[in-house]
Amino acid sequence: SLVYQPQYNISTKKIIGVEALLRWDNEILKSVSPSEFVPIAESTGAIIDIGEFVFEKAMEEFQDVCKRILETDNQYNQSNRFRLSINVSILQLSNENFLDHLFALINKFECKNAKLMLEITESLIIANHQKVGAILEKIRQSGIEVSLDDFGTGYSSLSYLSKLPINELKIDKSFINDITTSKSSLTLIKSIINLSKNLGFEVLAEGVETQEQIKVLKKHQCNNIQGYYFSKPLDKTKLLEFLENNK
Ligand code: C2E
Ligand code: CA
Ligand code: CA
Repeated sequence: SLVYQPQYNISTKKIIGVEALLRWDNEILKSVSPSEFVPIAESTGAIIDIGEFVFEKAMEEFQDVCKRILETDNQYNQSNRFRLSINVSILQLSNENFLDHLFALINKFECKNAKLMLEITESLIIANHQKVGAILEKIRQSGIEVSLDDFGTGYSSLSYLSKLPINELKIDKSFINDITTSKSSLTLIKSIINLSKNLGFEVLAEGVETQEQIKVLKKHQCNNIQGYYFSKPLDKTKLLEFLENNK
C-alpha cells in the first residue's frame, strides 16, 4: 500500500505537496520497511512491477485529493500546482517501457492543479548520467519535474549537476539530524542551499523533526520542508482529513 507525507513551506505556511511512500504488511513478516525490501526488489528486478504498482496506485488515490481539495481550494492553480512526488529507482527509470507507461498513465488521470515530481537518488543518477540523461530530458519536456533525493550523500560532480535537467535538491535527513549541533553539517547545508539557488533549483529539507531545526532552515532560507515535525506519512483517508483541516 501507499502512504503520503505532506511537504510544507514554512514561509507561506502552505502545503506544497506530498511524497508517496511504499508500505508492505506481510502476514508473517508483519510490517517490512521499504529500506529493506526495495534494495532486494532492485536486485531481483521485481522493482519494475512494484514501481508500476506505485504509479498506478498513487495516481488512482490522488484523484480524490484532486477532486476534493485541489479543484476547490483556490490557493492551488496552474501557476501554483500541488506536487505528487514519487520515488523512482534507477532500474525503473532505465527500463525501456518506463516512459510509455508513465505518459499513458498521465493521460488517463488528469489533474490540472497538480504536477508530478520524480524523486531519484543523487548517487545513482550521477553514476548513470549518460544512460539517464536523455530519459530525464524527455521527462522534463513532458512537464514532469525531478528532485535529486538524499542530496549530499553521493559524490556529485558539479559539472554534471549543472547539466542535468532537474528541478530540486532534496537535502538528506542525515544533515538535518545534527544541523543544530554540528558546525560541519550546518556549513554543508548552507552550501547546498546556495548551490541550489545559484543553479536555479528548488531546495527541500527532509527528516525535519524539531522546532530548532526549522529555525535554522528558515534563517538560511530553506523554506520547503518535510518531516515528522509537520506530519508523519498518512494513508489516503488521513491525508484527506489533514488537507481539509489545513486549508
Ligand atoms: P526516502 O525517499 O529518503 O524517504 C524518506 C524516509 O524518511 C521515509 O521512510 C520517511 O517515512 C522517513 N521520514 C520522513 N520524515 C522523517 C522524520 O522526520 N524523521 C525520521 N526519522 N524519518 C522520517 P520510508 O517510508 O521507510 O522509506 C525509506 C526509503 O525507501 C525511501 O527513502 C526510499 O528510498 C525507499 N522507498 C519508499 N517508497 C518507495 C517507492 O515507492 N519506490 C522506490 N523505488 N523506493 C521507495
Ligand atoms: Ca524520497
Ligand atoms: Ca531521501
